[in-house]
Amino acid sequence: MPFHLTEDQRELREEVRAFANAEIEPRANDLDAEGTYPTEALAELGERRLTGLTIPEAYGGRGAGLVELAVAIEELSASLMAAASAVGLHLGVAEAIERFGSDEQRERFLPEMAAFETVGALGLSEADAGSDKLNMETTAERRGDGWVLNGHKQWVTNFFEADVVLTYAKTGPEERSPHNVSAFLVPTAAFDVETVWETLGANSVRSPRVSLSDARVPADRLLGPEGEGYVQRGELRTGLNVPARGVGIARAALEDAVAYTSAREQYDQSIGEFQGVGWTVGEMAERADSARLLTLRAAERADRGGDVTREFSMAKIAATQAAVDNANDAVQLHGGMGYTTEHDVERYLRDAKLLTIAGGPNEGHKDTLAEAVFERRGAPTAEDE
Ligand SMILES: Cc1cc2nc3c(=O)[nH]c(=O)nc-3n(C[C@H](O)[C@H](O)[C@H](O)COP(=O)(O)OP(=O)(O)OC[C@H]3O[C@@H](n4cnc5c(N)ncnc54)[C@H](O)[C@@H]3O)c2cc1C
Repeated sequence: MPFHLTEDQRELREEVRAFANAEIEPRANDLDAEGTYPTEALAELGERRLTGLTIPEAYGGRGAGLVELAVAIEELSASLMAAASAVGLHLGVAEAIERFGSDEQRERFLPEMAAFETVGALGLSEADAGSDKLNMETTAERRGDGWVLNGHKQWVTNFFEADVVLTYAKTGPEERSPHNVSAFLVPTAAFDVETVWETLGANSVRSPRVSLSDARVPADRLLGPEGEGYVQRGELRTGLNVPARGVGIARAALEDAVAYTSAREQYDQSIGEFQGVGWTVGEMAERADSARLLTLRAAERADRGGDVTREFSMAKIAATQAAVDNANDAVQLHGGMGYTTEHDVERYLRDAKLLTIAGGPNEGHKDTLAEAVFERRGAPTAEDE
């Protein structure tokens, strides 16, 4: 069983790492403090087609798989988690168009999305449809040769830079649930902005609440078959960007802790020489590596077309908690300086906390994992295959 990246994957890692270290990391704290979208960095990622990493080459993307996605997102997130989230959400919309869209929709959206000239956002969650997405109130009604949408979406990451929101709306009666939710490619101009929250972290990419009031879209904006939008979401794999973002923060916190505790001296010795500090740093390394291994295992298995329900949930839970725990330890090991914005570690902690909530709270993933484990009782585990 190989535990190493291929040469191409290592090259990709080096490319994204070098870019993120040079173009994102030095500005990360300012972008966060100012709440400024990393526009230039994302435009450059677009020119390199890294915003089209998993979009097929036929549509101008790089045609890479999920292992590559995990590798690239880890690197971006190690510099600025919000930049990684902008790319992750965008690629999630592109994956839905690629998998469920018509030829015409693919031709129309994917080449520009690969270059980040068209930006995607996800409109799934609502005020009363958080973990329980099927409780959404947004509706789409067929009228004439198009659809009319009413309702709201909240936490639409990328909204202010996006051109299109992949919007989920009820198109059928509750008796048909979950086959009563359809997906639409709605222009951002069709929405009104209702609330822009101040958030604990991820400040450079806003996720507002937006509403639709008799918003009319043509029939060709329906993505996939009517009524199957929610069910089809279960087949999407780019959600793996969430644990990959966790790996990035867990690793960055570890690296910063090693550097700081090696340099900082108290009682005439570097604080890294205290056994208690060494053990903490060791545990941080263990968490970061476990998070990466679980994330890459899920990615590799998904690339082979396998069912990753169990592996994805494990990766999501472990990697996002590793990010929180490592960031928390890194703040502690930086002492008072860790509590200031002079170092990155306080931002890691604020950004990391989002990851145990977004992409579905970890508690829900624990339910999914438990179901998968019980369903597979007596059956071969992933390791046996
Ligand atoms: C900054 C940000 C960006 C986001 N970006 C997007 C986006 O781009 N598009 C989008 O559609 N959504 C987005 N989301 C929404 C995100 O997916 C939801 O916040 C998430 O699914 C949880 O929903 P909720 O916030 O309503 O929490 P709730 O569902 O109300 O859950 C609250 C808490 O209850 C507990 N809980 C929930 N379910 C269970 C359970 N089964 N067992 C035990 N405890 C449970 C957990 O502790 C959970 O945190 C974003 C959220 C944030 C904060």
